[in-house]
Amino acid sequence: MFNPTVIKNDFPILKRVVNGKKLVYLDSGATSQKPSQVIYAEKEYYEQNNANVHRGAHTLGDEATRMLAESRQTVANFIGAKEQEIIFVRNTTEAINLVSYAWGLDNLKTGDIVLTTVMEHHANLVPWQEVSRRTGAKLELVGITEDGLLDLDDYAKKLFLKPKIVCIVHVSNALGIINSVKEMTKMAHKAGALVLVDGAQAVPHMKVDIKEIGCDFYAFSGHKMLGPMGIGVLWGKKEILESMSPFLTGGGMINEVYPDHSTWAELPEKFEAGTPNVAGVVGLASAINYLEKLGMENVRAHDKQMIEYAIDQLSKVTNLAILGTSDENKRSGSVSFEYQGVHAHDVATILDSEGVAVRSGHHCTMPLHKALGITASVRASFNVYTTKEDIDALILALKKVKTVFGK
Ligand code: PMP
Repeated sequence: MFNPTVIKNDFPILKRVVNGKKLVYLDSGATSQKPSQVIYAEKEYYEQNNANVHRGAHTLGDEATRMLAESRQTVANFIGAKEQEIIFVRNTTEAINLVSYAWGLDNLKTGDIVLTTVMEHHANLVPWQEVSRRTGAKLELVGITEDGLLDLDDYAKKLFLKPKIVCIVHVSNALGIINSVKEMTKMAHKAGALVLVDGAQAVPHMKVDIKEIGCDFYAFSGHKMLGPMGIGVLWGKKEILESMSPFLTGGGMINEVYPDHSTWAELPEKFEAGTPNVAGVVGLASAINYLEKLGMENVRAHDKQMIEYAIDQLSKVTNLAILGTSDENKRSGSVSFEYQGVHAHDVATILDSEGVAVRSGHHCTMPLHKALGITASVRASFNVYTTKEDIDALILALKKVKTVFGK
């Protein structure tokens, strides 16, 4: 097991002072901070190797091409995938849009069902609304139970509608709930549906093996897992990706171009039009190396410790209601709460004045907040550098909310 206090030293930004107070960063669910190793890897790439990726033209071009390929292999190994199945995109949002457009427009027609859940981040809901509007498909949403878990009875019932695709979040960004994506995938496949899993909040905190889950597509973002912004991953099963038309077209993704038509490159280039974000990819590979050095089992063990401690401490604060189950085995990455009688934005502003950074609002999950009967919540979210002292600082800062609002 690693010591998060020691880990903190790798993250230069965590030395910052904010509003006269030492920064306590509890907004890793929005974006994680980056260790020096990742920052250095990107800097080194630009200082030593930067060129566009093309083999054989010159040395730097060869180096950049090799670094892109090696990093792709690192990402593939990390999630148990094949290299050609790793498509580099900007982020989870783009990965899901790629599938909704490139798969959805050709495979959905009037009356088809797309099944997603009320728990989704807007990134796994709005693209499906949009592709349903264009194709005439119908969107159905699985509801939640009273303790904020996905309603699996409702899920089983909606699978009888024979959806073409099921789109589920692995770990909810708002509730921190881990969904049983392996079982849900099995059920969906039995019903004849493809499965897309939004792994944006899962990949940073636990070992993800896409073969073990058995899904068809898996999407995640580099910036939430200690990597750079602007780089994300879509993994898809080779035969499905091969059957799909490209999402974006232009340079880099073609085989041959004629005046009136073109043929496509093999995977993964077919889905990577234009100049890739090589520095971002190199940074992402460096973040994966960092996480693997810590060991994903240890990363998850630390994650559980932080959740258990946060729930324990937050439960002692009066007027505060924690969202979702208190079982840390079913949670990852974050704890959200409602401070009764004080708006989430006011809570966050007071916490910020104490140097504590949290997220407030609907966390891009408006339908979920509506289902929970609330308009906004406060989210404290963690990563490998989070310590019990950070959570103590949050609890202390919450006392100021009480002082200011008298609640
Ligand atoms: N899905 C989930 C569960 C998320 O938490 C987020 C980011 N908050 C996204 C999708 C979208 O990620 P990005 O903004 O990197 O595309």
